[in-house]
Amino acid sequence: ANKLKKQPTNGTKKRIATTSLAGCFGCHMSLLDIDLDILDMVELVEIHKSPLTDIKKFNKRCDIGLIEGGCCNTENIEVLREFRKNCDILISVGECAVWGGLPAMRNTIPLEACLNEAYLNSMTSEEGATTIPNHQDIPKILNKVYANHDVVKIDYHIPGCPPSANHIWSVLKHVLFEEEYSIAFADFKYD
Ligand code: SF4
Repeated sequence: ANKLKKQPTNGTKKRIATTSLAGCFGCHMSLLDIDLDILDMVELVEIHKSPLTDIKKFNKRCDIGLIEGGCCNTENIEVLREFRKNCDILISVGECAVWGGLPAMRNTIPLEACLNEAYLNSMTSEEGATTIPNHQDIPKILNKVYANHDVVKIDYHIPGCPPSANHIWSVLKHVLFEEEYSIAFADFKYD
């Protein structure tokens, strides 16, 4: 693992939170692909609210929030706003977070047609299905998929689908510890 040039001050770990909105968890999987750099990571960074820790609520302020996925429903908007409130810096990780990505392909089709196709007319719909699920406990789907920066202020964007672990970690070290890095065009990853 590359040693950090600049260590964090007074040994205090930086705190990171992560979430997946309208994403596929591929960006989280990529983050876990960090290999030996994980030794640096556990030494320097504490992961707070995240699917990786299963911590559900913020009870400490975080230095960075990593957001995978954009906003396709009302719950995504609530979670994103909660992250903005509890994190000093927000980073959109991956194409879905940056501009909507694959889920945003529905943006060219009217919402009603999307719902009909998903619940009434698809190959797996029940024969004669006439209702689209609608309950107060189910988040309301939005008229289109929004990029995160359409909803709250996003400080940095990491492109890729998913961005490589090395790319994500380099950005984190740069933002947290001012470690310089460069990335070649060929290292932008789109699987
Ligand atoms: Fe999945 Fe790619 Fe979207 Fe990340 S950017 S959540 S890997 S589809």
